[in-house]
Amino acid sequence: MIIMLTRTFFGTNGIRGIVNEMLTPEFVTQMGVALGTYFMGGKIFIGCDSRTSGSLFVKAASAGLISTGCNVYDVEYAATPAIQYAIKHFKMDGAVIITASHNPPEYNGIKVVGNDGVEVSREEEVKIEKIFFDKKFNRKKWNELGKTIRFPQILDVYKEAIKNHIDVDAIRKRRFKVVIDPANSVGALSTPQLLHELGCEVITINAQLDGNFPGRLPEPKPETLGDLAKTVKAIGADLGIAHDGDADRCFFVDERGNICQGDKSGGIIVDYILQRNPNQIVVTPISSSRMIEDIVKSRGGTLIWTAVGSTTVSKKIQEVNAIIGLEGNGGIFYAPHQPVRDGALSATLMIEILAKSKKTLSQLIEKLPKYFIIKKRIECTNENKQIILKKILKETEKYNRITIDGVKIFFEEGSVLIRPSGTEAIYRVFTEAKDEEKAKEFAKWGISLVKKNL
Ligand code: MG
Repeated sequence: MIIMLTRTFFGTNGIRGIVNEMLTPEFVTQMGVALGTYFMGGKIFIGCDSRTSGSLFVKAASAGLISTGCNVYDVEYAATPAIQYAIKHFKMDGAVIITASHNPPEYNGIKVVGNDGVEVSREEEVKIEKIFFDKKFNRKKWNELGKTIRFPQILDVYKEAIKNHIDVDAIRKRRFKVVIDPANSVGALSTPQLLHELGCEVITINAQLDGNFPGRLPEPKPETLGDLAKTVKAIGADLGIAHDGDADRCFFVDERGNICQGDKSGGIIVDYILQRNPNQIVVTPISSSRMIEDIVKSRGGTLIWTAVGSTTVSKKIQEVNAIIGLEGNGGIFYAPHQPVRDGALSATLMIEILAKSKKTLSQLIEKLPKYFIIKKRIECTNENKQIILKKILKETEKYNRITIDGVKIFFEEGSVLIRPSGTEAIYRVFTEAKDEEKAKEFAKWGISLVKKNL
């Protein structure tokens, strides 16, 4: 029993598992009962991405929620940030989103969102797990059950909300040609329509919903965005836009067909926002490039580093009243809209920047502070991770460092981040410096610190 109580289902972004292995209909129904007990009834949104198991788990989770008296408002297929925005707009008590975000097709998952539109914190997840394992379910009598209400109208509200935060006229005047690759998933239901309404000429690839992901895998990264890059170049588009499976993240391709890393697009967006709102606070996880710090400092802003994880970034944005947050994986959190990652909002912000700066994306990238970045992984057992970390922390005591998630050591010429992965049996070593040789030297040192303590 003790072993059961210490088990955890939640990772850095909700529950994830392989369909019909860890994630069975029975498990999801029981989790629905636990979630309904946690929410204490109320009005709960449910929705999913395009995965083949989406409607299966929407029904399974709904059954559990309804058994505890929740009224379940089914938005069907929708981007995660669209559902998150709609929670506050329609005064719901929360949402259960069936998505595995960027994971491969055989996965699915559950994101649990509170009434503020932000995924629940680790402390709240512990409460949900306790209800689940203790089976302290609040099942209702036959005449107190909830019901499902179809609620497909959130996308218009979401698109209008985004338009309220951008310069619609400036974008309309430019009539940009844009290629969008939503990975055969729910980004296809909002981003192309939104950009069309903003006067862009929109070309889509992989835009039919298909949980087999025939076009590409749902994680946007250089290896999966080759078709988008080729299309942008071939048709002379101004910009390429790619989302992950639930469209909370956004990757860009410049007009030459080059894929822009998330740190760089994030840096461009942060610079633009701080230029218009100087002295504001920016939040980013410790894994982001030092380039972000250079940009924030140059605009008189304040940068706050957090542990890795989008919910951690969202909570910190709320806590310190930051204007924007970003992750190197293409996550942009623009607080005046909502303090969570939002792929369509990131896309429109970037288009506004192109419209107002009258520069191309490649020209904007060229202006960014330059760092050579080296990323290495070192295998280690999960059991040894904390012992190794303790030793590394002891050895790096004398340096200027942050220890909120592994250790990030700051040098005049660059930085070294050493952290155990939260999901894999590896240590990650990220180093960067303005000079390539120095970055290599830092990497060698960081790797040696891990290896000698293995
Ligand atoms: Mg995602």
